[in-house]
Amino acid sequence: MAELIDGKQIAKTLRAKVKEQATYLSEQGVTPGLAVILVGDDPASQIYVRNKERAAEKAGVQAQTIRYDATITEAELLQKVATLNADPAIDAILVQSPLPEHINEQHLQEAITPEKDVDGFHPENVGKLFANRHEYFPIANTPRGVMTMLQHEQVDLYGKTAVVIGRSILVGKPMFSLLEAADASVSLLHRHTPDDVRHTMLQQADVIVVAAGVPKLITANDVKPGAVVIDVGINRMEDGHLEGDVDFEAVEPIASKITPVPGGVGPMTIATLLETTVELAARHHDVELEAGWQNI
Ligand code: NAD
Repeated sequence: MAELIDGKQIAKTLRAKVKEQATYLSEQGVTPGLAVILVGDDPASQIYVRNKERAAEKAGVQAQTIRYDATITEAELLQKVATLNADPAIDAILVQSPLPEHINEQHLQEAITPEKDVDGFHPENVGKLFANRHEYFPIANTPRGVMTMLQHEQVDLYGKTAVVIGRSILVGKPMFSLLEAADASVSLLHRHTPDDVRHTMLQQADVIVVAAGVPKLITANDVKPGAVVIDVGINRMEDGHLEGDVDFEAVEPIASKITPVPGGVGPMTIATLLETTVELAARHHDVELEAGWQNI
């Protein structure tokens, strides 16, 4: 039986640490400020943004959501980003996806100044991650949250074999870089990887991170006994319940550690977003935070 990795609990601990640092910052006259741009009325986005606002408020981060109609032009949005870039009260900016089709997401990612790029999507920050740079820069929050979980669970990655499924800029690619930087040997698979190749590679993996958005993609005979299985997938099923990309019931007896869905990676993403916001605020206002404050 695998040990359950309790993302809710780990996220709670991390949020408490964020709150301590936000309190310390406020004693120095700095209130961490997060601006969220929300375009249109996608129901899932509305929920994500509300959850982000609530978690931010509880952690001492001032979050403001700037809402726009789906008819807003790209030029107007870029103008708003420029204003936020220059606003001293704003330390972190994110644009909630998906965006309406007439808006080019890449233009927005590039418009946010790298110093306020809380999602870590700016090509400069992506490049630093890929180049294993040692200075501070923001990293995409979901894969960073996965690394925090692995660290918390004392999963030693050195020399281990890892397989990441999914190659998005949001999860898979930065996950690949982070695991590789931790000295794992990493393979990055995607929708064009033939099923038999995926199966063979998975069977060799000590650590599996799956972010494909395909329910039950990972089954019992894909997994090596004792592997650590991290399920990033969130799939809303017809009856409304959420499922991950792993056949949890089947894999749980084989893995050594496994994340549930919900209650695994999901809560870590928001906690990590707040962690990054506090870091950006400290840097923006030249306040030194205690080294390693977020080690949990
Ligand atoms: P995406 O659609 O951008 O990317 C999906 C990736 O999976 C692609 O690279 C694709 O090639 C790969 N893929 C699709 N089908 C596959 C298959 N059959 N075999 C192998 N690879 C396959 O999605 P994303 O934004 O990276 O998100 C992936 C999943 O993670 C979704 O379910 C999403 O809801 C979830 N997600 C969860 C969190 C969280 O906080 N828990 C955060 C972000 C995304």
